[in-house]
Amino acid sequence: MAHGTIWIDVERCKGCELCIAACPHGLVHLDPTQLNAKGYHPAQLNDPIGRCTGCALCAVVCPDVAIRVYREPRGKRAVDRALAVQQPVEVVAV
Ligand code: SF4
Ligand code: SF4
Repeated sequence: MAHGTIWIDVERCKGCELCIAACPHGLVHLDPTQLNAKGYHPAQLNDPIGRCTGCALCAVVCPDVAIRVYREPRGKRAVDRALAVQQPVEVVAV
């Protein structure tokens, strides 16, 4: 199964929770400790054991195009490398 991760542009997020409902693994939550410039608690990924598959459902439903998805088909090394240099392996949705 593919390994993925997401990056959320917290300043674009309006806390609508659509991505939370869309994630089949329940990996996205609003961050109660953070407020963006618009006054919203932004969404954040909570994926301590790497369950994100990069399915992009969260990004597809986001009305503010705030989620970028990274996906790597086998293992997670390429994703880790890409995040280290802030370059997408495969941008599924932006
Ligand atoms: S890409 Fe898929 S599995 Fe990963 S956080 Fe988004 S909805 Fe969940
Ligand atoms: S769907 Fe987009 S705007 Fe709504 S909470 Fe998720 S990231 Fe924020």
